[in-house]
Amino acid sequence: MTPWMPSALWIERSEAESDLARRLRARLPAVPLRMVDDTAEAEPAGDFAEGKRRLVVKRHRGTFLQHCPAGTPGLVCCNYLVVSFAANCPFDCSYCFLQDYLANNTAIKAFSNVGDGLSEIDAVLRAHPDRTFRIGTGELADSLALDHLTDLSRELVPFFAERPNGLLELKTKSTGVDNLLDLDPKERTVVSWSLNATRIMATEEDGTASLEERLHAARRVQAAGYRVGFHFDPIIAHEGWEDGYRQVIERVFRRLDTRRVAWVSLGSLRMTPGLKAAIKARPNPSLVLTGELVPGPDGKERAWRGLRVKIYRRMLDWLQQIDARMPVYVCMEPPGVWSKVFGQTPSDREVAEQLVAQRPLACRVSTAR
Ligand code: SF4
Repeated sequence: MTPWMPSALWIERSEAESDLARRLRARLPAVPLRMVDDTAEAEPAGDFAEGKRRLVVKRHRGTFLQHCPAGTPGLVCCNYLVVSFAANCPFDCSYCFLQDYLANNTAIKAFSNVGDGLSEIDAVLRAHPDRTFRIGTGELADSLALDHLTDLSRELVPFFAERPNGLLELKTKSTGVDNLLDLDPKERTVVSWSLNATRIMATEEDGTASLEERLHAARRVQAAGYRVGFHFDPIIAHEGWEDGYRQVIERVFRRLDTRRVAWVSLGSLRMTPGLKAAIKARPNPSLVLTGELVPGPDGKERAWRGLRVKIYRRMLDWLQQIDARMPVYVCMEPPGVWSKVFGQTPSDREVAEQLVAQRPLACRVSTAR
C-alpha cells in the first residue's frame, strides 16, 4: 500500500521548533504549510473527509493516558490503558467510531510533546512496580499509519524495552512496519492487526492494507523478533459471516508462527446513535447496518446475545483447531457471554494477568456446538 501523505500541514506556532514539527517540515517540503496560533483554523467545518487529508502538529494539553472505555460496570475488563499521541486516522472505515467521537475535530493531529506522554507512562509504571500494564496507542488513531512521517515508534519501542512492567501494543490496519525492523523490542512491544471477514474488509475499510498485505507485514515483524496480535473487531453479523471469518482465520493463522501470537480478541460491533447517523450519512450504503441490533448494558446496540455467543464460539473453535495455545478473549462483553463462550468467567484481574503473561485464558477446547 502507498503510505499516506497529507494535502496540507498545519503547525501550532508555539510548537514550530519541536522535534516533530522540524521532522515533518523536512519530510514534506512540497506540502503546503500553515503556521497558526490556534489549530482550530485547520478544522474544515462539517467535512470529515477533508479533515482526514490535513495533518496538524500541536501540543497535547490534556492527559495522555486513560483507561480503555471497556472499563464499564457490567462488562468484563482486561485493564487496558490507552495513550493518545495522535488523534484521527487517514483511513476511512465505514464503522469507525471516530466519525462520531471526533465529528467536530476532524483534522488529523500528531502531538508534539511526546516526552510528556512518556513521563505520564513512566510515573504509572513506577508507582505500581508489582503490576504489568498493557498500553496501546491505537484507540484514537491507527498506531502506525503516520509512522513513516513521525517516527513515533522509534521512541516508543526502546522506551518500553527498558520497562519490565509495561507492554506496548501498536495496533494497525497498515503496513507501516519499516521503522520497527531494526529495533529490539525485548518482548515489550506487540504489533497487532485488526482483521475482519473478507467481505467486510473489501467493502467497509477504505484505504487500509489488504489482508495479504497485513499478513506480509505481520510475518516481517515476527521475523524481526516481535510478538503479534490480532483483533477481530468489530465483528459484523452479515450474510455469509461464517465463511468470511473462517476464511480469514485459515489464511492468517496457518501462515504465521502461532507460538508468537500474543493475543487474539473478538469483539462485536457496538453502535451508538451518533455513529449510526454518521454511517447513514455516508455516500455508499454499508453492510454494517444490515443486521438487527439491540441495546446493551452500556447503552450501545449490539447483535443479540445468542448470535454473538454463536459467532464467538465458532471463531474460537476455528482458532483452537489451528493452535489451542493462542490467548483468545472477548472484548466489552458481560460475564454471561464469557461463561457461554469459554465455559467460565474469569475475574477482570485474571483476564489482565493472563494477557500480560500471554498465556491462553482457561477455556474449554471443544468442537461440539
Ligand atoms: S483504521 Fe481504525 S481508526 Fe482508522 S478509520 Fe479504520 S477503524 Fe477508524
